[in-house]
Amino acid sequence: MSSRFTPRPSILDISPYVPGKSSAGPGQNVIKLSSNETPLGASPKAIEAFLHAGDQLYRYPDGGAGALRTAIAQVHGLNRDHLVCGAGSDELLNLIAQAYLSAGDEAIYTEHGFLVYKIAILAAGGIPVVAPEVDLTANVDAILSQVSDKTKLVFIANPNNPTGTYLPMGEVRRLRDELPDKVGLVLDGAYAEYVTRRDYEAGVELVAASDNVIMTRTFSKIYGLASLRIGWAFACPAIIDVLNRIRGPFNLSGPAIEAGVRAIEDEAHLNRCVAHNEEWLLWMSQNLEEIGFEVTPSVANFVLVHFEHEGALSASAADGFLLNEGIIVRRMEAYGLPHALRITIGTGEQNKAVIAALKRFKEGAVS
Ligand SMILES: *Cc1c(COP(=O)(O)O)cnc(C)c1O
Repeated sequence: MSSRFTPRPSILDISPYVPGKSSAGPGQNVIKLSSNETPLGASPKAIEAFLHAGDQLYRYPDGGAGALRTAIAQVHGLNRDHLVCGAGSDELLNLIAQAYLSAGDEAIYTEHGFLVYKIAILAAGGIPVVAPEVDLTANVDAILSQVSDKTKLVFIANPNNPTGTYLPMGEVRRLRDELPDKVGLVLDGAYAEYVTRRDYEAGVELVAASDNVIMTRTFSKIYGLASLRIGWAFACPAIIDVLNRIRGPFNLSGPAIEAGVRAIEDEAHLNRCVAHNEEWLLWMSQNLEEIGFEVTPSVANFVLVHFEHEGALSASAADGFLLNEGIIVRRMEAYGLPHALRITIGTGEQNKAVIAALKRFKEGAVS
């Protein structure tokens, strides 16, 4: 036994999450496309509600975020008693791991899955188990083949960050059907609003019909409220009860609740954001391919672009070139994709700047 003051052993196995860079060289007018933030900002109604929340800052917020759960329930046609809000969906993912994993329990996520899952599993004392992907896409059979007696949770981002790929709902249903009943399935729908494919669903009906499926959602992406930290989960009442027991009693701030309500009620703003992304996701993918880059087909608000494994056309060379031009994108080493960069869809002007820069990069490297 150590005589030193030490944390649980698994805590020191965690590599801290490294967020996207937020500045380039000094004094540059920076184009930040490294964290999948919306280029269109939050709903003006949400911003107004946030500004008005100032005179109530001395009060504790409603601990149950009742107004926000009511607004979410209305928009999605859900029962608000089956919802719990969190300080970002990151908090909820961590609470799920904390509540359901005992020491030695295993939790599965996929090869290039969102890194927060591994952190949440280790922080809870669980054992992370990685299921291989096929074509940078989650694969149900590969996940099922990793299931053991100790498996307690499966985390899937659908669509996934950083690959932008998704599992059709039929496959998600098959996964649920073939998983043992004692295994919880977490469907992280952080980018669900962006997906326009017909065979995609975020999982509302599956959650409603199950007592071991949890859907998590966020206001950080399409709703443009990343800084306010708002997420929510939809699950059966028994799971919601568990998460309510361990969350902070005031885990959402008052301004977050107020702005969140106005954001989710502003359907016109949401539709503008969906339309903008649909147009520019296609434009970016096509233009990147025309320059000669391989792009993983994405249904989200970012693209994964592949580069040569070494030399003047490598991902690190491209990243350096873009940074020098004041364009910040995301390196993918931490996701096991060292030869790829993830680029968030920006404003029209920003997207054109990225394409122009990458054209110059490519021409400079081959000439
Ligand atoms: C951005 C993101 C989230 C959202 O995290 P918040 O804590 O809600 O900001 C969750 N899951 C995935 C896959 C993401 O990319």
